[in-house]
Parts: sequence; C-alpha cells; structure tokens
Amino acid sequence: MSAFKSKYQDELIANAAYIGTPGKGILAADESTGTIGKRLSSINVENVEENRRVLRELLFTTPGALQYLSGVILFEETLYQKTASGKPFVELLKEGGVLPGIKVDKGTVELPGTNGETTTQGLDGLAQRCQKYYEAGARFAKWRAVLKIGATEASQLAINDNANGLARYAIICQENGLVPIVEPEILVDGPHDIEKCADVTERVLAAVYKALNDHHVLLEGTLLKPNMVTPGSEAPKVAPEVIAKYTVTALQRTMPPAVPAVVFLSGGQSEEEATLNLNAMNKYKGKKPWSLSFSFGRALQQSTLKTWAGKPENFEKAQAAFLSRAKANSEATLGIYKGDAKLSEGASESLHVKDYKY
Ligand code: 13P
Repeated sequence: MSAFKSKYQDELIANAAYIGTPGKGILAADESTGTIGKRLSSINVENVEENRRVLRELLFTTPGALQYLSGVILFEETLYQKTASGKPFVELLKEGGVLPGIKVDKGTVELPGTNGETTTQGLDGLAQRCQKYYEAGARFAKWRAVLKIGATEASQLAINDNANGLARYAIICQENGLVPIVEPEILVDGPHDIEKCADVTERVLAAVYKALNDHHVLLEGTLLKPNMVTPGSEAPKVAPEVIAKYTVTALQRTMPPAVPAVVFLSGGQSEEEATLNLNAMNKYKGKKPWSLSFSFGRALQQSTLKTWAGKPENFEKAQAAFLSRAKANSEATLGIYKGDAKLSEGASESLHVKDYKY
C-alpha cells in the first residue's frame, strides 16, 4: 500500500500523536440531541439548547481537568457554542491544550437481510462538512460503526460494509485536515463469553485495517476507538487483568504499530470499571507499540451528571466529580491508578443501555 499524501500530512501525524500523549485522553461529549436528551431527562432537566450548553460548559471549565485531556469530541451544535461569559468553547479548549473534535456520522440504518445489523450513514457531503469544521477549529473527527454479537453475528456483510464505510470516512477526513477516529464498536449486549468477543473483535479489526490500507489511509494520522474485549452483558464478569490480556492480544494480532494510539470507548461499563480495565491494560506486560488511552462518554460523565442534577448550587461539586474521573483515567493511561478516586454517586453503576444509539 502507498498511503495517500495529503497536504495536511505532517499536521495529521502530529495531531494524532498529540492526542495519544501518555497521561491524556479524550472526553466524548458529542452525544446527539436525542441522546443527550435521555441523559438530561434522567436528572429531570429539559432538553433545550441552553441546558445542553450549560452541561458542556460545566465539563470544559472544570478547574484542572483539561490537563488530563488531549481532545474533546463535540456535536455540531457545541462546536459553535460559547461559555456564559462569551468565550467560544473551541478557544477555551485550545488554550487548555485540548484539540476540538467533531462527530460526523449521521447514525445507523439496518442492513436488509440481516438480523438487525446496521451500517453507518453520513458520507454524502462529508468533504464539505470536514472543511467547514476544520475552519471552525476542529482537528479530528469521529465515526461510529456498530456491530453486534449473536448466533450468526457479526455477519461478513456487516463486517465488510462497516469496514469500508470507516475507510471511506477516514480518507475523506484526511483529505480535509481532520484526524479520523476509526470506531468499530462491537456492542456488549448478549450472553456470550470473552472468547467469543475476542474472536469477533479480531475479525472486525482485521477487516478494518485491510479496508484502511485498501483506501490508502495514512495510518500514522488515525486513531482507533474500539470496545474493550469483555464478556457479554448477560455473562459473568471477569477480572480487569483478564480483560487486559484478551484486549491487548486482539490488538497485537490486528493493529499496525503505525497507528499511534488506541482510545477505548466505555460501552456501558461503570466509571470505575472502565478506569480499572484501562489501568490493567497499561500494567499488562507484553508488546504494546501504541499508547492505550480513553475516549469515554458515559464513563466520564455519569457521576458528574448525577451530582449536578441541573442545579446551579451543585455546579462546583459536579466539577469536582468530573475532575476526579479525568485524573483517575489519566493515571490509568500510565498504569498507576491505585483505585483511590473518590467515588461520587453513580461511579460504580452499570451504564449499559441495550442496543445503544449515540
Ligand atoms: P461511551 O464511552 O459512552 O461508550 O461512548 C463513547 C462514544 O463516543 C461512543 O461513540
């Protein structure tokens, strides 16, 4: 393969490497209006633009938190929002050394002839949208492709179609200056064991890297956002060390060392569980030619959301909860988390949602 030579090549490589800086990771705050609405309704807050803005301001202005982050993924609406005092969020993040990113996929539709498997939409007009987002300050993008595990899933059709979609998206991003986060998420739903998850994860990642190579994607200017390899949501849990071994093995078998970093999704794990699993991977002895970090949504926000509950008087306490999770995950990227984060309400609770839509 010869990687495509974009005029943004050096910038893509530098930004992808920066996002993977050990000690830092990504806050996924790019919930669509529908998904954030479900979060807000769980704390009895109305899903209107101002409340969505306030929640994002709470996160981004948490004193001391940005040092633990290298990127924040935004939904389009948030890319153009400002703090109450009038500072654009994009400026605030950049000043804190955090790259703004943007969710560019447009959700999923069912693949006909399958047992409810899906393909991701959003390629039409993507180049123009990437240009617009770059202009607005975004430097990386996210595209989520969803796969599931069942008796006959993930099917070869779903694996191939999603791998190709991710590769088309990735090359369009690189042509327009955005580092693509490649996110093939295998849902945790089901009674399967960890071996089954490892098998499907390896097949999916192998197909994804074949497609990325076929499409001449510059791997040094990409990031991978996979699920951790775990037992299904209806199967008995296993220790973080077991998850670490299976996950790192799946990556060793499929993921080229040219890619600078893996930024895991949390996929319905509790906040503390996701942190402990990431920490175990970074403690795991074995070949790891990439940094292993986080791009958590639910597992970085749940206790903050619960503590805030939409009440101005809880703002600072909620920011303290966010700071504690951001710091714990930063430590986990270095394998030095001692399990000593103060657990706010919600930090140990499962965040699994069946058939999760983002
Ligand atoms: P979770 O960490 O809540 O799984 O979400 C991350 C994400 O960005 C999904 O696309």
